[in-house]
Amino acid sequence: MVPAMYIEDVIPQKQPEIELQHITHTYKTDKRQANGKKYVTAITDINLTINKGELLVIVGPSGCGKSTLLDLFAGLAEPTSGKIIVADNAERKIGMSRGMVQQGYALFPWRTVRQNIEFGLEVRKISRKQRRAISDKYIGMVYLKGNEDKYPDELSGGMKQRVAIARSLAYNPSILLMDEPFAALDSQTREILQDELLQISNTTETTIIFVTHDISEAIILADRIGVMTSNPGTFKEIIETNLPKIRNAATIKTIPRYNELYQHILGLMKNGSLEDQIADNVSI
Ligand code: ADP
Ligand code: MG
Repeated sequence: MVPAMYIEDVIPQKQPEIELQHITHTYKTDKRQANGKKYVTAITDINLTINKGELLVIVGPSGCGKSTLLDLFAGLAEPTSGKIIVADNAERKIGMSRGMVQQGYALFPWRTVRQNIEFGLEVRKISRKQRRAISDKYIGMVYLKGNEDKYPDELSGGMKQRVAIARSLAYNPSILLMDEPFAALDSQTREILQDELLQISNTTETTIIFVTHDISEAIILADRIGVMTSNPGTFKEIIETNLPKIRNAATIKTIPRYNELYQHILGLMKNGSLEDQIADNVSI
């Protein structure tokens, strides 16, 4: 019999990074809503534990509260009710421990690729030599070598998004938050960036929370998938994908488990009423 100690040595134990308990978030509105109330409940009773180093994808239709949830993770908003427990008492504030990458690239147009990536390091007064070493590392990781001195308007959409990812990683965040970052890219570029993100996830310790409304993208990227629905905005199911850790966007679709997951998630997302789907403009 294998001693218990041995098993613990070879199977890394899951360590929680952030835990959400019964989180609800409402927005106050100026105008009365259709239900007569002057607030919108964006998310209701969210319970979720994110483990260190995992790539968790949150998939759901537009308006189900995905961006609201990321804002709470980032510390950009406080939940109306419920509790957020953070490991190691790390500060739940955007900055050093959180990196955010969104659909828009939000690059400084007057700064080069390297200067954009080094921006946060300059703010933190890191020496020029160290900045250079860090930006070199991430420029290599996102395949931008040779483009260091270009300005954003000389770059394609995919390259701009790579700069945004490198800039976030340069802070060495413990969590990288990504809000539909590839949604505006053509499908070929999107697949390349998905593969690059998988590689980053496999070669760094960074915990990644990635939001998308695209089921296929969720399956390609995720270790676990949280499927959200609207009205109320909450998790319908959290699924372990059980796909090979080393994978890529093109070959994953040939694995039977991919189809099984796709149909299952599609079913979960279709369960909302047809009116909801039309109102939410679900692209399924
Ligand atoms: P998603 O990112 O999934 O599209 P959001 O988190 O942006 O969803 O929005 C969830 C719900 O909260 C939607 O009904 C949206 O209209 C509403 N909402 C988001 N931000 C605000 C705000 N600042 N004020 C009022 N309502 C908001
Ligand atoms: Mg959103």
